[in-house]
Amino acid sequence: MMNKEKLLGCVKSGGLTLGTMMGVIGGVIFGICLRSRPEPWTDREVMYVAYVGELFLRMLKALILPLIVPSLITAVGSLDMSLSGKVGMRAIVYYMTTTVLAVILGIILVVTIHPGVAGQERADASKDSREVTTPDTLMDLIRNLFPPNLIQATMQQYRTSLVSPGSVVVNDSGQIRDPNDSLTWKFKGEWTNGSNILGLVFFAIVFGIALAKMGEKGKPLLDFFTCLSDAMMVITTWVINLAPVGVFFLIGGQVLGTNDFGVVLNQLGWYFATVMLGLFFHGFIVLPIILTVFTRKLPFRFIANMTNAITTAFGTGSSSATLPVTISLLEEKNNVDPRICRFVLPIGATINMDGTALYEAVAAIFISQVNEMQLSFGQILAVSVTATAASIGAAGIPQAGLVTMVMVLETVGLPAEDVTIILAVDWLLDRFRTAINVLGDSIGAGLVYHLSKNELDGMSKPTNSTQQQQRNGEFEAVPLTEIEEK
Ligand code: ASP
Repeated sequence: MMNKEKLLGCVKSGGLTLGTMMGVIGGVIFGICLRSRPEPWTDREVMYVAYVGELFLRMLKALILPLIVPSLITAVGSLDMSLSGKVGMRAIVYYMTTTVLAVILGIILVVTIHPGVAGQERADASKDSREVTTPDTLMDLIRNLFPPNLIQATMQQYRTSLVSPGSVVVNDSGQIRDPNDSLTWKFKGEWTNGSNILGLVFFAIVFGIALAKMGEKGKPLLDFFTCLSDAMMVITTWVINLAPVGVFFLIGGQVLGTNDFGVVLNQLGWYFATVMLGLFFHGFIVLPIILTVFTRKLPFRFIANMTNAITTAFGTGSSSATLPVTISLLEEKNNVDPRICRFVLPIGATINMDGTALYEAVAAIFISQVNEMQLSFGQILAVSVTATAASIGAAGIPQAGLVTMVMVLETVGLPAEDVTIILAVDWLLDRFRTAINVLGDSIGAGLVYHLSKNELDGMSKPTNSTQQQQRNGEFEAVPLTEIEEK
């Protein structure tokens, strides 16, 4: 029987979806109505129209750091390495492999389909014509992984800039500076505005590992970060509740400020199709193949048993909210050991988001295509790394991927405001990518269970092992009905 709270949650989440949909449709109609004015709209007028949307975007941006850092520290810090190192490692290897596969698939699709130039040129293209070289981009990426000053990393990131010689120059030491070969140019390091999220994410992971290693001693700090990330989650939920209004004005402003609306719609259609194709291929072909190869069993039944979790994920747009359903289906229908489920799934719901990773990569490259930016191989690699990090950092709540999207955009020098380009379809794509996120978590739990059967058989049941019970509550075999009641 559905209790009152659950019902309220469903209605709320449905209301938010409906509200966001109305915001999108209303924003488009609003923008089209405004466009019908005979005299053209000035930039200032467009800015006024988009103002409320801009405030919404600023709130989203404010959440990035305080949301990602504590949630990563908590997720990594809660891994009890000594107790279930092998199980944890298997899960992490699976998460990383499938996330990277999803990103690669997304990049192949977006580069091949090239949704960003399906129409004609965009008038306001070529925003950042800065010269970059692949080695510099790659080395800057790694440099940024190790910020020399963590406080500075919240505000600035490092990049190498090149100085064009203008014409061919030979200096005193006989070095040739050729304007056509940027590798021969002078270079200098500089700090640019914008948080070095990659460096902070890396530090958060290292910090989380340290806390996990410290065990009991590290617990107070871990509790602090857990509390902080919970609080941030509450604020995020509030901000996301503003989405209908924010989206309305952002899209209104976008429609108003877009020169050729038909082209953008055309581009968005292709973008939508590219993400959908990637999600479908990854969720229903790549992941099932991995499961089959390792378990030597056909995956159809396993996936069919998870249908309810997949539709719940689609309905709520949140992998965290779907967690109880996922756990119950895995344990009851797919017979996965509760010790594995309850250890692996909460981490998976936080850090394993294949659908989100694929979407982040496709969206960032799509936006750069719309801006007519030619991405170098190094930049594409940078997108893959940040898209992976962004999916790990995204919370399992509706449209959290949009928050971390900004970080991927910043990696290739695109303005955060450009997320507005994809806003129109994001609420819908969010549902699909959440479904794939949950499917990925479920298949991961099934796989880790299969690979860990031997150790589990060798381990005494945790209900009898007081030591394990004391160290980690998740291993206690709590009947599901009890969990549902909580
Ligand atoms: N809504 C997604 C999830 O909960 C995250 C995202 O991609 O926005 O899994």
